[in-house]
Amino acid sequence: MSVFTITLPDGSHQSVPQGTRPLDVAKSISPRLANDAIVARVNGDLFDLTRPFEGDAQLEILTTKNPDALNVYRHSTAHLLAAAVLELYPGTQLGIGPPTESGFYYDFQRDAKFTPEDLERIEARMRELQAKNLPFERKLTKKSDGLEKYKDDWMKRELIEERAGEVFTEYTLGPDFIDFCRGPHVPSTEKLKAFKLLSIAGAYWKGSEKNPQLQRIYGTAFFTPKELQDYLNRL
Ligand SMILES: [Zn+2]
Repeated sequence: MSVFTITLPDGSHQSVPQGTRPLDVAKSISPRLANDAIVARVNGDLFDLTRPFEGDAQLEILTTKNPDALNVYRHSTAHLLAAAVLELYPGTQLGIGPPTESGFYYDFQRDAKFTPEDLERIEARMRELQAKNLPFERKLTKKSDGLEKYKDDWMKRELIEERAGEVFTEYTLGPDFIDFCRGPHVPSTEKLKAFKLLSIAGAYWKGSEKNPQLQRIYGTAFFTPKELQDYLNRL
């Protein structure tokens, strides 16, 4: 079995067996660090805490103090939103769900319009899913298999055509949800402690009015309920 050398920001080294994950290194440093960790930076790139190292690496564990961690946290909450929408409204198609300056959104294609009451239902389902502590898991899919698998999902097909290499990544969230995504994400929904859905708007696919119009659900998320409440009070 291979052994990798992991170099930490203070210059110290650890030798770890193949299969070791950034989360394991965080736990070996301190349970507190593992608890506060949101995502890793490995050789300069953001990297899931639960993704095994693939070789020697420079490792930084990003906690709630790091702005990049907030983007990953918010994007992970967007997946939770998409999972809740698909459970409540089967047949909805997924666009993209990036973080924004102040939260996140997800674009959906669905014939019926989302209403403010729907938003409340969706948020309630997000809370149910969050409480199940569902893991985010990274999967590798061959491009040819992906195009076949998503042959009835035009937005996903376009994204795979444009962005996927020979192999691309998908992330599951629990047993029932999978989405095309580069990641990274938080390890599990346990981390997603404070979010709120805010509004619904129309949005064109890829921002062009030549493309079909989608429904965009905006939300926000913070590391703590207090930060979320302070933000909502300011709105
Ligand atoms: Zn994602």
